[in-house]
Amino acid sequence: MKFTFWGTRGSIPTPSNPNAPTHEYGGDTTCVSLEWGEDGLLIVDAGTGLRRAGFHWLRSGRKKFTLLFTHAHWDHLQGFPFFAPGYVEGVTMEILSPRLPNRPPGNLIQKALFAQQEEPYFPAGFPELKARITFREVQPGEEMKFASGNEIVRVQSALTRHPGGCFAYRFDGPGRGGERSLVFATDNEPPIDPSSPLIKLTQNADFLICDGQYTDEEHEKRRGWGHGTPSLCLQEAVVAKARRLLVTHFDPGHTDVQLEKMEDELIAMGGKQGLQAAFARQNQTVEL
Ligand SMILES: [Zn+2]
Ligand SMILES: [Zn+2]
Repeated sequence: MKFTFWGTRGSIPTPSNPNAPTHEYGGDTTCVSLEWGEDGLLIVDAGTGLRRAGFHWLRSGRKKFTLLFTHAHWDHLQGFPFFAPGYVEGVTMEILSPRLPNRPPGNLIQKALFAQQEEPYFPAGFPELKARITFREVQPGEEMKFASGNEIVRVQSALTRHPGGCFAYRFDGPGRGGERSLVFATDNEPPIDPSSPLIKLTQNADFLICDGQYTDEEHEKRRGWGHGTPSLCLQEAVVAKARRLLVTHFDPGHTDVQLEKMEDELIAMGGKQGLQAAFARQNQTVEL
């Protein structure tokens, strides 16, 4: 398995500029892909990073896509109207929507994707998409399996602590030298509770990808906003006995200079705990 960060920024796209560079860590919002076997592909979230990812797969002639969503906040949806394969005849797409608690009936992501392409927000409405798109809900705790030939990736979910709810996902599948696991837990504000569904989901994972949007000082002022800090991510990884940590969902107010400082602090803290920790970078691919 390998995963690629197409977007690492939280909240809103943050283009680089000379006074506030963001090109090292990335300015596009959340989109990650997981690939395995001959043609296995799962795309998690449709932040603005999905746009470039779409061109990449269009060039490679891919016709079949599965998109898995964590929740429906804008920074996880906005790339979808710019996902070029959606406008190509012969493309099929399955879109998986989390069944979040205390939500009205109906498919959350289907409603949100239709709404964001309605007049007057976008010129090409959802019905103009040429791809054959199907929607399905993912129930909390449901286990799913995705195959590429006889190579299987198992997917499980757990609820994170985030306004309106959000799913984290665990992927178990073929890696270098055996079965490997990865947990993608964006948009989450811990407390670290060993009995929480997210910690259970993350137990002994090879990789934890975690929301570390704020510094500790910023988090003090933004409690309840549903985002974590690098030090909370580290605690989460240690409690869950994850082997490696990558922090993502960077704050739009943080430049490369600030992120580098935060990352250095995280690496030092991780070193003391014997855990390899770093910040994710847009376009980074990690082999598992
Ligand atoms: Zn977000
Ligand atoms: Zn969110």
